[in-house]
Amino acid sequence: MRAAFMTAFAAPMQLRDVEVPEAGPGQVRIKVQASGVCGTDIHCWNGHFPVQPPLVLGHEPVGTIDALGPGVTQLRVGDRVGVTWVQRGCGRCGHCQRHHERYCEKAVTWMDLGGGHREFMIAEASGCTLLPDELHWDVAAPMFCAGYTVMSGYRNARPRAGDRIAIIGLGGLGHIALQVAKAMGHEVIALTSTASKREDAKEMGADEVLVVDKHAGQELMAIGGADIVLSTSNSMAQNSQIIEGLRPEGRMVTMAAGRETFAIDPNLALSRQLSVIGSMQDERADLIDVLALAASGKVKPQIETFGLDEIDQLMARQRDGKVRFRGVLQIGY
Ligand SMILES: [Zn+2]
Ligand SMILES: [Zn+2]
Repeated sequence: MRAAFMTAFAAPMQLRDVEVPEAGPGQVRIKVQASGVCGTDIHCWNGHFPVQPPLVLGHEPVGTIDALGPGVTQLRVGDRVGVTWVQRGCGRCGHCQRHHERYCEKAVTWMDLGGGHREFMIAEASGCTLLPDELHWDVAAPMFCAGYTVMSGYRNARPRAGDRIAIIGLGGLGHIALQVAKAMGHEVIALTSTASKREDAKEMGADEVLVVDKHAGQELMAIGGADIVLSTSNSMAQNSQIIEGLRPEGRMVTMAAGRETFAIDPNLALSRQLSVIGSMQDERADLIDVLALAASGKVKPQIETFGLDEIDQLMARQRDGKVRFRGVLQIGY
């Protein structure tokens, strides 16, 4: 079977022919159908993430269960599943005892088992989530990082009916965050630095689109501000600015990884009683619910598709910020 290996940082991927792997105890083998490419793939590829080559990237895989390892009783051969970043905790630490495996220091993730940019992969059974029957592979894949992350971010903002929500960073995550906020009935403002994304954002349901010129926060406040900002922006300068666009008791949720810091004006924070919330893939229920939104057509990821042998093209487009809005490798069909 073919697998796309990162063999060195920032070097072209190598398509290798390797043995089809066997599932160990508690694991399943999945025939991968589609695998999304995330901004984090680029962080890994650039050496800005704690992983070492050789490694297969990809943490948005979906496919069909092809074989069960010993002891797997709840999944069946033929099940359509996707695999989450965190697949299993150690089971014994305080976090695992609370079923908060996402905080477990010994959690098993794609970084241990290898990611989804390959024809067959091994996953922990506990990391698999069944897909709604009607959900197409290409649409399902981006839900496993982008969709899951932004649904958790939305919920962690503690949204209230009538809250005005601003989305900043209209990429793989942001374009889904926009649609989630809209599906939940909010007035949604999309902020982008890319004027050509204005029409896309409108089509995805934004009530207003703000093309940021100089200062994201001041420009947002000039049109009334927001109760919640869902930020997937990699620009920490922009994340600092956007706080000025929050209304009293506003919440800013930050979801993008980065190596720099962003600053918060303490006077603004106290006088408006603002919150800044970091958020990652949280409760598994958030994933289930965003899959349901995708199955109902309320969330429609905009995707570009590539074959496994075209992975370098997709990585280059992702690196250059050209993907509109999520790149998906079609592998099994
Ligand atoms: Zn991701
Ligand atoms: Zn643990």
